[in-house]
Amino acid sequence: MKPKRPACGLCGETGNLTKTPCCNDWICDDADKYVLFSYKTSSCYRNHDRYTLCSYHHKEDHSGKWQDCAECKNDFQLENYVDFATNDFNFEKLANLPKVTIKCVNCGFESNSMQDFSFQTSNSFYCNKKKCQKTIMSY
Ligand SMILES: [Zn+2]
Ligand SMILES: [Zn+2]
Ligand SMILES: [Zn+2]
Ligand SMILES: [Zn+2]
Repeated sequence: MKPKRPACGLCGETGNLTKTPCCNDWICDDADKYVLFSYKTSSCYRNHDRYTLCSYHHKEDHSGKWQDCAECKNDFQLENYVDFATNDFNFEKLANLPKVTIKCVNCGFESNSMQDFSFQTSNSFYCNKKKCQKTIMSY
């Protein structure tokens, strides 16, 4: 049973809501209120829109469910695939995925959250540390 009063499936807000085009779930209608460097660093709508397979699958017009879509799996590196399927911007997280450990090629820092790596090339990840971000700038 879903609660009668609609609430954002990600943060629980009941204020200004809209429905996601991909999965038809309630979400904060905050995409256009997002301000760079504002105290609110993220927008529920934007996060779901940009960082989930749910949204990607919908935009690419794949068939079936994203949860068992082979095309989605093919389109991403495993690290990204796992992150897009299990991060907190999902209403429904995919279970039974392999755990991936991502390693910063610059300093060796390891984590299994993509959130800790703000930059990646086709086969390398760079963590959020200033010194590692600097390395990228100097290329
Ligand atoms: Zn929200
Ligand atoms: Zn969705
Ligand atoms: Zn797909
Ligand atoms: Zn690093």
